[in-house]
Amino acid sequence: MKNFLKIKLFKHTSRVRVYFYMISAFIIVLLLYFIFVVHYSRNFINTKIYYYYPDHYSSWIIQWWTLLSDDKFDNNYDFDTDSSFTKFVNNKVGFNKIDYIPDDLEKIESDYVLDIRWDSLYRKDANLALQNMAKDFYLIFKKKMVVVSAFRSYEYQVWIKSRWCSDLFCAKPWFSEHQTWLVLDLWEASTEKEFLSNKMLNAYYSWMQDNAYKYWFHNTYQKWPDVDWYVVEPWHWRYLWIDFATYLYENKLTISEFYQKYTENK
Ligand SMILES: [Zn+2]
Repeated sequence: MKNFLKIKLFKHTSRVRVYFYMISAFIIVLLLYFIFVVHYSRNFINTKIYYYYPDHYSSWIIQWWTLLSDDKFDNNYDFDTDSSFTKFVNNKVGFNKIDYIPDDLEKIESDYVLDIRWDSLYRKDANLALQNMAKDFYLIFKKKMVVVSAFRSYEYQVWIKSRWCSDLFCAKPWFSEHQTWLVLDLWEASTEKEFLSNKMLNAYYSWMQDNAYKYWFHNTYQKWPDVDWYVVEPWHWRYLWIDFATYLYENKLTISEFYQKYTENK
């Protein structure tokens, strides 16, 4: 009788142990997967991993992680290197190399993006994000996203300035954010008023305001020259880092405002 009890007890114990190991293994696999996705999504130049997952699922994970994470915003981004995705440019801060050209350029024309120049080049990761954003935009508006201007060289900016365009409207050569190869002017309009008084463009802009940060895009000039150095440009969007784009969106800041605070606290 004693032996029988022992065997029963042993059997029971071993089954509990097996369940314990199985649950532990499951939790470990889940944790590794979670760390892998978040790690690659948040910290690496190779953003492809983020886009391998359905948009809503991955952005849900990342947003959840961002909320949980203590280091919600890592402000040690590189604002100085020309090739940095967070390179900062304004009327006083330019490029290190006048003819900087990244080595990861691609054409941007696709089923969801119309490039009116037909041959605009854009950095690979930014292009991937743009294509995802444009695809979701297309699902709602049934229209391609229209790129009016992307990269502008030093020489091109010299030509723009030769037409007596004020510093509030046009950047000086060597100081244009377009020279990052990360910026796009979307849809055609010459002033904020003209852009926003167009019902269709206004609807596009509202959508961009609510959604562009999910694809890591930021509207650089939103708050007039005393903050952003230039007049408001609802068409001017740049690709940024995920934490940074989300942080700016959640805190209603522009990159110039952030940069100013960042340099003051340095
Ligand atoms: Zn622009």
